[in-house]
Amino acid sequence: MSFKKLGLSDSLLKAIDKKGYSKPSLIQEKAIPAILEKKDVLASAQTGTGKTAGFTLPLLQILSHGQKYRRRPIRALILTPTRELAAQIQDNVIAYSEFEDLRSMVIFGGVNANPQIRALKNGVDILVATPGRLLDLHNQKALSLKTVEILVLDEADRMLDMGFQRDLNKILSVLPIKRQNLLFSATFSKEIKKLANKILKNPVSVEATPENTTAEKVNQKIYRVDQKKKSELIIKLISEGNWKQVLVFTRTKHGANRLSKKMVASDITAAAIHGNKSQGARTKALKGFKDGSVRVLVATDIAARGLDIPLLPHVVNFELPNVSEDYVHRIGRTGRAGASGEAISLVSQEEMTYVKGIEKLIGEQLKSEIVDGFEPTMTASNNARTSANQKNSRKPKSKRNTRNYKRSSKR
Ligand code: ADP
Ligand code: MG
Repeated sequence: MSFKKLGLSDSLLKAIDKKGYSKPSLIQEKAIPAILEKKDVLASAQTGTGKTAGFTLPLLQILSHGQKYRRRPIRALILTPTRELAAQIQDNVIAYSEFEDLRSMVIFGGVNANPQIRALKNGVDILVATPGRLLDLHNQKALSLKTVEILVLDEADRMLDMGFQRDLNKILSVLPIKRQNLLFSATFSKEIKKLANKILKNPVSVEATPENTTAEKVNQKIYRVDQKKKSELIIKLISEGNWKQVLVFTRTKHGANRLSKKMVASDITAAAIHGNKSQGARTKALKGFKDGSVRVLVATDIAARGLDIPLLPHVVNFELPNVSEDYVHRIGRTGRAGASGEAISLVSQEEMTYVKGIEKLIGEQLKSEIVDGFEPTMTASNNARTSANQKNSRKPKSKRNTRNYKRSSKR
């Protein structure tokens, strides 16, 4: 399958070519034709499968070929939960629309609203926004949503997780009733289906999770280690393994700062990214990581969710998340767009209960190793785990939830 066969225009094909994509991903192959037919679409595919281009390319084509308005009212609204995601989507929109006569803009909170308000006055065809700032500017009458033809909800599952339901409802209430709706999500949860039922009209559902997922692209393993020895271990892994770039997850903002400082003290360039950092600091850290000047990015879940960091070979869980789904999202940062990757979790005795939940969710057991010199101190509950381990060595029964989380083998 080629992008051309999907019915995209020559100017878009040129932009795709410039991006270096040779063929569409599975979700793009399925979603693009349906969107071009102006259908409502519910699309689910795991992280890193190219959902952004999946909605942006057809959206640009529809707007380019639609009626032109001199004053550029907002014709497409792309909503996404975090500032970083909004900025990334905008980067994509800019790249793909290089040869189109379309203007786009991104708005999000945490930065001064005045430049955004001024820029909106010049008119934009495509607005990428986080819900809070969008409502804020709408309330100030800095923008109107009456002319929106296409609504995109990206990372809709995260949007619900982060409590944006009420903001969403408000936004929906000021949009025109007749519009095209596109809902993109990494998972197809009950909540997502409920949201879809409310927003979408006769949607085409597309899912890009192949039934047979034999080849796992991400090599996952855990290292058992005492909490207080974790920093030393991760520094050893990075230096001795000669890892060029690694994304590290910590459970707390404070922990992210502390670890990144320790790395720097060991001559490993590192930066922390989390909710307490200013927008400028976050952007700078991400940029440094992308251009390679920062070797280790230490992040909390919220900050890292959805970040597009291409071809990242290593992801480390410095601490396991207490929500198993977050584990899946974290390891989705490695092995992106067909490349393979390694996800390592440093697991202390206290965290062993999380391992069980994760194994149940992903439907497989995680390989467990101990590094010489980092043996965990034996405790009574350690022995308890050994027997629990044996009891659990059968394949977990629950396969139902795992489908969306398996890595694609078809790409
Ligand atoms: P998702 O939203 O599904 O998590 P993204 O849209 O962020 O995924 O895309 C993940 C990565 O894959 C990005 O670096 C993007 O540039 C790249 N990508 C997207 N489509 C293709 C394609 N058809 N071929 C190769 N790489 C692609
Ligand atoms: Mg995405």
